[in-house]
Amino acid sequence: MGVAVVTGASSGIGEATARRLAADGFDVYVGARREERVRRLAESIGGRWAPLDVSDPSSVDRFCDGVASCRVLVNNAGGALGLDRIEDADERDWLAMYQVNVLGTLRMTRRLLGQMEASGNGHVVTVGSIAAYEAYVGGAGYNAAKFAERALTRVLRLELLGRPVRVTEIDPGMVETEFSTVRFRGDAERASAVYNGVTPLSAEDVAECVSFAVTRPPHVNIDTLVVLARDQAGAATVHRS
Ligand code: NAP
Repeated sequence: MGVAVVTGASSGIGEATARRLAADGFDVYVGARREERVRRLAESIGGRWAPLDVSDPSSVDRFCDGVASCRVLVNNAGGALGLDRIEDADERDWLAMYQVNVLGTLRMTRRLLGQMEASGNGHVVTVGSIAAYEAYVGGAGYNAAKFAERALTRVLRLELLGRPVRVTEIDPGMVETEFSTVRFRGDAERASAVYNGVTPLSAEDVAECVSFAVTRPPHVNIDTLVVLARDQAGAATVHRS
């Protein structure tokens, strides 16, 4: 199946995707900032790992220097910080979200595109969000980053037309991971309230979508795949029982 690089693999969707792609037969290369977690993951799936901070160009360079060949890149590293209204917005949060979700995706893609093209069947998968389509109160910083990441992905698809690299975005709604704990800076109560009365997606549900996209025959490009829990009909339209 070739080499699959997964960013942000120390938890949630990235970890589940790495496990799933290893089970699919990929030679998986994982990275994130929490080294101990990615090391343990790599050991358990027979993959390789290296520290990676996609917000830091030199870290991206060091990580990618160790990737001799690459067929699939899963740009998963990302997330949200805060749920502030625009009048209360903290620019540092906005910059951090732009760094990881947008520039991180740009840096990784730019660095590994040559290897993916050389494989003859490259594939860039970006984990976006329903927040890339729909604004919601308090979402502006994350909306802006995910809309921008989606713009990057759409442009990439156009620019790679005629070259042997597929481009897919998987856009989930609510997934129960560490996402909300990070967003609310460790406030476990506030994070768990996000999923009150809802059956959200699991990280494995999203990993399955990634697996589906990258295991289609080379002429099939899954362009976008929006996947929501049955209890969620829009970014902020959620049924709670
Ligand atoms: P998560 O459990 O918090 O995982 C986020 C991952 O990103 C972690 O492995 C984290 O690792 C990594 N990461 C964060 N900043 C990084 C950086 N600067 N460099 C490298 N890795 C970094 O959340 P998740 O739900 O799995 O999120 C994965 C992706 O799904 C994100 O892009 C998120 O925006 C998107 N998403 C999530 C949801 C949801 O409801 N959960 C919905 C739609 C989209 P380290 O902290 O160890 O670096």
